[in-house]
Amino acid sequence: MKYVSTRGEAEGKGFAEILLEGLAPDGGLYVPERYPRVDAATLNRWRGLSYAGLAFEILSLYIDDIPPADLRRLLDTTYTAEVFGTKIITPLRALEPGVFVLGLSNGPTLAFKDVAMQFLGHAFEYELARRDRTLKVLGATSGDTGSAAEHALKGKRGVEVFMLSPLDRMSPFQQAQMFSLQEANIHNIVVEGVFDDCQDLVKAVSADLAFKRLQSIGTVNSINWARLLAQVVYYFAGYFQATRSNDERVSFAVPTGNFGNICAGHVARMMGLPIERLVLATNENDVLDEFFRTGTYRVRAAAETHATSSPSMDISKASNFERFVFDGLGCDAARTRELFEQVESQHTFTLAARDRDRVAGFGFTSGRSTAVDRLATIRNVHERFGEVIDPHTADALFVGRAHAERATPMLVLETALPAKFNATVRDALGRDAPRPAGFEGIEDLPRRFVSMPPDIARLKALIAASGPTEACA
Ligand SMILES: *Cc1c(COP(=O)(O)O)cnc(C)c1O
Repeated sequence: MKYVSTRGEAEGKGFAEILLEGLAPDGGLYVPERYPRVDAATLNRWRGLSYAGLAFEILSLYIDDIPPADLRRLLDTTYTAEVFGTKIITPLRALEPGVFVLGLSNGPTLAFKDVAMQFLGHAFEYELARRDRTLKVLGATSGDTGSAAEHALKGKRGVEVFMLSPLDRMSPFQQAQMFSLQEANIHNIVVEGVFDDCQDLVKAVSADLAFKRLQSIGTVNSINWARLLAQVVYYFAGYFQATRSNDERVSFAVPTGNFGNICAGHVARMMGLPIERLVLATNENDVLDEFFRTGTYRVRAAAETHATSSPSMDISKASNFERFVFDGLGCDAARTRELFEQVESQHTFTLAARDRDRVAGFGFTSGRSTAVDRLATIRNVHERFGEVIDPHTADALFVGRAHAERATPMLVLETALPAKFNATVRDALGRDAPRPAGFEGIEDLPRRFVSMPPDIARLKALIAASGPTEACA
């Protein structure tokens, strides 16, 4: 399997080559040259597999430059009951007639990003060792990404993590999850500014190509194909739990920010998983809902981007969206390039009528959930079922319910546990979210971080000062 750029870079690359890369050199995103189709007999065979076994079958279709025995070992090490708290890894539970919740948040940081990031951690370590290389992972976070990345990469050979976060903007729980890590390869950098300052610093460092190469700087952001691929697995796992035969279809409701999670659903559908609808739920930052309703993609200015109570979906543009548009345009790279260059220059594009018709054939519908809807949904679920759900999951449930059809089970993706967003749970219920065992008092643990003003030179000096970590065996 080769990977090509959505903007038409000619030569295809293998999975292991793009694993450690970000954008393609032409500014596009890597996509597989085709989606492998899975037939009914294969689906039947996969039904009985363990999560790691299923992951191996799916990832093998996309990875031919890691020996199968090694890939199997990486996946067996990643998807364990020990790490995810349950042998099923992503258990499905019934909520109300026709509506199910797919639990993706049982990993170390209690958010769905662990499912892919834990695999990425093992894959990075493996590939760096094979290449006799080291990598400095640089990132900016306002919450879930940073902690998932740090918990996946802590203690990994050959990797160092430099994670920038804005001063006092994350929930106390999220801060504790990151800052309590004592591993020497984790560097928490608190920036005296807002998230955009952090992101600008990362961009400025990455734009210095000489520094980037010399220091071997990489990322783990959501455009990474390996992350997306690892997320495809739980769409299959959810389907198998909700159905008894391949004649049945299901829909998924997905709380969406950067279009990574739901893009994995799109890939699963392209592979032949019987998905009726992919229901895209946004919060007040409704760039993508607007696109699916109108055919116009209009990225927002910073001043137009709302700080909401489902903060992991507060985006001004959706970094994975180009992958879907590429498919929607019939894999026309020239046209994709044109549209996304127009986004860079004019912040918007509108699909032609012909392309809108084609996009309509991919099974998407969308909706938007606001602060009021979110709180009401958390309250409603608590009153009726005695369960507490997190604000992002509430957005997906709200929009999913509005699009539910009687004959088709609706699987709502649970992307975080409520303990991470306790302030909003308190607003909704007047009480604290339940805290999973092992997380009691994490706010009181000793904290490791440095803080600095948004200063590129100081950041570069800090990155350059730490050496490679592969030395001790
Ligand atoms: C990251 C995140 C999302 C958004 O996922 P995308 O892949 O960016 O669409 C939703 N909910 C939670 C809790 C998250 O951490």
